[in-house]
Amino acid sequence: MKGQLVDTYGRVHKDLRISITDRCNFRCSYCMPEDGLEWSPREDLLTFEEIERIAGLLVDRFGVESIRITGGEPTVRANLADLINRLAKLRVDLSMTTNGATLSLAANRLKEAGLKRINVSLDSLRRERFAQLTRRDNLNQVLEGITTATDVGFDPVKVNMVVMKGINDDEVLDFVEFGRTNGVIVRFIEFMPLDADEAWDERKVMPLSEILEVISKAHGLIPVERDNSPAARWKYEDGAGEIGVIATVSDAFCDSCDRIRLTADGKFRNCLFALKDYDLRELLRDGADDDQISNLFINGVKDKWEGHKIGKSVFIRPSKSMSQIGG
Ligand code: SAM
Ligand code: SF4
Repeated sequence: MKGQLVDTYGRVHKDLRISITDRCNFRCSYCMPEDGLEWSPREDLLTFEEIERIAGLLVDRFGVESIRITGGEPTVRANLADLINRLAKLRVDLSMTTNGATLSLAANRLKEAGLKRINVSLDSLRRERFAQLTRRDNLNQVLEGITTATDVGFDPVKVNMVVMKGINDDEVLDFVEFGRTNGVIVRFIEFMPLDADEAWDERKVMPLSEILEVISKAHGLIPVERDNSPAARWKYEDGAGEIGVIATVSDAFCDSCDRIRLTADGKFRNCLFALKDYDLRELLRDGADDDQISNLFINGVKDKWEGHKIGKSVFIRPSKSMSQIGG
């Protein structure tokens, strides 16, 4: 069995996100409650062998081209470099999203294991605000992590900032300067209704149009032709790098979405906002062969909807938060 993972709208899926843990050493207010969430027991998490098997099958049979490791916080999982090593053998575009807190210690090992690209999440450059937002006083460690990631040769390093009105929207230009000075690509992300506290409100979203308005007052921007990336991109006119905006709420990119997801506890999801998932772990542990596993993917992708309906009356918020799904 070989082919492509195509849904009923003709979208071909080649981008896989694998969450490897739902644990985290941070408690970002837009993602987790202050007391944390109940972590999945160890035995419920897919093992590295199981992840390697699924990823290999998706690459060999369905032409998956890129894999991003995420979580929870992926760096809290023991022996992460071992998993990177296994996935690097698949020769895909292998990347990871991290909060960066321990990156200064891990970056070199991960690079040597075969990780190609790193995205670091950072929402404030001000120590007190950072501590409030993440409920951890770790700004310096994250900044060190970004520097180390650049020094060991990750290129590009991307910094993801979730922009929330009245909370950190006054730092958009500080992030622009941070990116330009440190040679990293900053991507501004619209706040999504996937926070565990359910405090999301459309009025807290700073839309793409407003983000661009602020930045273009300070710097000339040239649009970059859109590819399958969720980010709309612009280059600075003076050549000092680029920015991206992930406008999930105000300008959804569902039409070109080629992403599929695997949660840490082995559920397959065809959309971040999906209300249904598919139990891959049970199938694997019941001894399913590759054809049976492939069928789960084929049918799961066929079921994919046209797009999320955030902001419309029909939108239903998924019961899981971003950290449980794998952002
Ligand atoms: N712990 C890692 C990190 O923070 O980079 C990886 C997992 S985290 C869930 C992945 C991404 O989701 C981060 O960039 C984070 O900022 C983003 N995120 C979490 N909750 C969000 C929300 N409600 N709206 C928008 N982005 C969110
Ligand atoms: Fe942890 Fe990432 Fe969620 Fe922050 S955004 S609480 S770092 S999983």
